[in-house]
Amino acid sequence: MPDARYDGYIFDLDGTIYLGDALIPGAQATIERLRASQRGVVFLSNKPLESCANYAAKLTRLGIPACADDVINSTEALIHLLRERHPGARVLAIGEPKLLAELTEAGFEVTQQVDAVEVVVAAFDRTLDYTKLNLARQALVRGASFYATNGDKTCPVSGGEIPDCAGVIAFLEATTGRKVQEIAGKPSPHILGAALARLRVDAGRCLMVGDRLDTDMTMGVTAGMDTALVLSGVTSRAMLAESEIRPTHVLTSVADCP
Ligand SMILES: [Mg+2]
Repeated sequence: MPDARYDGYIFDLDGTIYLGDALIPGAQATIERLRASQRGVVFLSNKPLESCANYAAKLTRLGIPACADDVINSTEALIHLLRERHPGARVLAIGEPKLLAELTEAGFEVTQQVDAVEVVVAAFDRTLDYTKLNLARQALVRGASFYATNGDKTCPVSGGEIPDCAGVIAFLEATTGRKVQEIAGKPSPHILGAALARLRVDAGRCLMVGDRLDTDMTMGVTAGMDTALVLSGVTSRAMLAESEIRPTHVLTSVADCP
């Protein structure tokens, strides 16, 4: 394998680095090779309920040593975006205690006082109730900005048995006439913005590696990055042939990463 071609690498996890609980053959050697060449490596997850530390622990257990800072999830992407656009804002979040704690830690004031709210955030929330929805609705009617961590139609966390973010967004849009302004997680390029900031590498010198055309490859292209589609996950050569999306590289697996 020649020297690593890019300065920074952003890897999707499931279908790219591992499949369920098994590492994709060659993944460990690829990450070792890139790190040994002083290349920046981060991993992306769109699932906000599992913490970055938990993903890092899983990677480490599977043979790829990682710390929480090596992983970006949709919560991190949202915080990165809000820090750019609404630093220190008063935020009403439909989300679980962990998200509220992370927002507070990131310098935002979490509040339920509707007339003080500057930003409403919709996120996964297994403690969702009518009061939260109603307070968020009132804040949006009063003009608060409207962001979400995820826009997935089906919950990627539990196969749909918990309220997913898209349902919360749909409720708030339907009852306020407002539209969500930004969704931070995949397929939004904002999650890549957070990853690039972590890597401190320009988009043009970074490669996005993933197994999904409609998320990983699309957002990489949108962000101005070269892309590598791996065929070790959900996408087959037949699906690629039918798609209009043309990744820069098409790889059997991450083992062939340029
Ligand atoms: Mg994947």
